[in-house]
Amino acid sequence: MSPTDTPSVRLRPEIVALPAYAQGKPADDTAFKLSSNENPFDPLPSVVAAVEAASDFNRYPDASALVLREKLAAKYGLTPAEVHIGAGSVALLSQLILAAAGAGDEVVYSWRSFEAYPGLVTVAGATSVRVPNRADHGHDLAEMAAAITDRTRVAIICSPNNPTSTIVTADEFESFMAVAPNDLLVILDEAYVEFVTDSQAVNGESLLGRYPNLVVLRTFSKAYGLAGLRVGYALGPVGVLDAARSTAIPLSVTGAASAAAVASLDLERELRSRVRALAVRRDALWQALTVQGWNIPQPQGNFIWLPTGEETLEVAARLGEAGLVVRPFPLEGIRVSVGESEAVERLLGISAEIVAAFPPGHAARRIG
Ligand SMILES: *Cc1c(COP(=O)(O)O)cnc(C)c1O
Repeated sequence: MSPTDTPSVRLRPEIVALPAYAQGKPADDTAFKLSSNENPFDPLPSVVAAVEAASDFNRYPDASALVLREKLAAKYGLTPAEVHIGAGSVALLSQLILAAAGAGDEVVYSWRSFEAYPGLVTVAGATSVRVPNRADHGHDLAEMAAAITDRTRVAIICSPNNPTSTIVTADEFESFMAVAPNDLLVILDEAYVEFVTDSQAVNGESLLGRYPNLVVLRTFSKAYGLAGLRVGYALGPVGVLDAARSTAIPLSVTGAASAAAVASLDLERELRSRVRALAVRRDALWQALTVQGWNIPQPQGNFIWLPTGEETLEVAARLGEAGLVVRPFPLEGIRVSVGESEAVERLLGISAEIVAAFPPGHAARRIG
């Protein structure tokens, strides 16, 4: 650190201490980028055309993205006021946390989960309460419920969970809602819900209108392949969404992003078949790894979790040498996006050797 790196202005110490958001590593031309859970398919031509047609960017966009809200409202049987659009669902998470939690308040979530949560809570001035994942890498909702105090203002539930790809079941979720106070904001982060094939999994859509304190977050970034345009949505009670709207940075959802999202909803069938193809690829990958001896939680997002523990950085480096850019979480595990089929083959080409080298009893290795 040079002297000029230490700011003389008085900044919030908790912000200065905050690590910057760590983005998935870029990949060079010969490598596959499997570090950000992106959709490997190119955008559909009619989505590109819709973006090109939204070229009046000398004008501000419609601040509330009404056309998109109306379309989503029709899809979910809601009123447009029960839909709120953000520049990615990360923006919506930020708005909702700011709306509900400030200094002295607590936000409870499972850990490890989405790496944006801790920073967003700190920026709001609130305190994170992290409840460790169960041994099977899923949320421990009973412990999360037990962690709720008078100070808790938000609970975040991520299903499928990033990075472990595990789901929360509908039963687990409903039991949690039954004991959570109904003045506690519960955010169900469903960034990967379109990839879910487990019929036991919670699905926010079927819960809409049932709870006065539940907001469901979804995004066009993953299943719909619009990560670079930044557009996501919240579904929930009008009063809560209005509070989120009040904390939002105005006009941050661009016209191009809204137009792409609207066009994508018209292409739902085509996009869904891509999602199905990725889910099939994911399940085949999981099965093949399991046969090789890996002990991996059944994945329900467009990514898998390798519980590599102490060997995480070593294994990630090995995958990197093979041209697979992945997301390591030191001492915990590695998140690998299900990308191109060639990338899956490349992974399976070296993964048997990797698991065989783990000592018996290693968490990433199947017993027997
Ligand atoms: C990717 C992701 C999001 C949101 O991404 P946006 O691009 O901001 O919509 C939200 N939650 C989780 C768990 C994610 O992995």
